[in-house]
Amino acid sequence: MKNITLSRRNFVAGAVASSVSFGMPSIVSARSLNGGALGQGLVAMTHGSMTVTDFKESRIHSYQSPNLTGCVSTHIIETPERLVIVDGQRSVIFGQEIRDYAETLGKPIDRFIVSHLHPDHWFGTYQFRDVPIHALKQTQSEIEQLGDFFIEISKPSLGEHVPPEKVVPNVIIEDGSYDVIDGVRLEYKHVTDAESDNMLTIYMPEEKVLIAQDLLYNNCHLFCGHGNFQGWQDSLKSMRNDTSYDLVLPGHGDITGSRESIDDALIYLEFVEGVYSKVNTGDELKSAILDRYPSYLAESLVDIQNLFLFPKK
Ligand SMILES: [Zn+2]
Repeated sequence: MKNITLSRRNFVAGAVASSVSFGMPSIVSARSLNGGALGQGLVAMTHGSMTVTDFKESRIHSYQSPNLTGCVSTHIIETPERLVIVDGQRSVIFGQEIRDYAETLGKPIDRFIVSHLHPDHWFGTYQFRDVPIHALKQTQSEIEQLGDFFIEISKPSLGEHVPPEKVVPNVIIEDGSYDVIDGVRLEYKHVTDAESDNMLTIYMPEEKVLIAQDLLYNNCHLFCGHGNFQGWQDSLKSMRNDTSYDLVLPGHGDITGSRESIDDALIYLEFVEGVYSKVNTGDELKSAILDRYPSYLAESLVDIQNLFLFPKK
């Protein structure tokens, strides 16, 4: 039985050695948003891209980073009067791109929500350090404890993308709580033992949207570094059985909102769990994964994952 903990010790040891199909809601024409070269509802930007989904009272602007940092998503929830940002990228440069875009919407940023501990979801929060940063208390303490370390180990590979210092969430979100912002309701759920040990999902009942973040990936390699194969699969199964949402937004990969990506993720996890139980090295696991999923993006996540699954003695 391999015992995985996402601890500083493990990481140090390791480091050394779309098609879019919607009924409702509609995808906003990017042309009306003065986007660049346009796909359907897609605004091309200097680094990432923005997909905009329109509802009666609100819009969700979903940013996706380039493959360099793993096609990570950030969502800007636009209510009638203000903006709520969900997750902050692994790069302050991409974080600034999102900040610049948010400023063009002409509404104040009410709050910033961090879904979980992993740096690809909060490094870029540095560009939003002037607004209240909300998270689960577990995520707050994980970033407090591991934040500086994540920044240090990321500098060699990411350089100028890395923030000068960590931004620790300063407002606590309780499991089962909700906020109503200009009539837009956000319901919070604490999910444990999945892609990360502590994760936040946000459900928007009026819009029938589930912001799943890293509980769900879409055509990207899943980060299995915590080794929570069973817990993650259980969470995905209950997500699959949940019929209360029409659109589910993944933490990595295209914002297609498809339920098929849930089945894909379940198959992927079962595959990786099976191979992991048989092989002895990270290289063996990686080559098995790349053979099985040659077209998946975010390959760098497999390398990071293997630092945890195969810690150097
Ligand atoms: Zn992630």
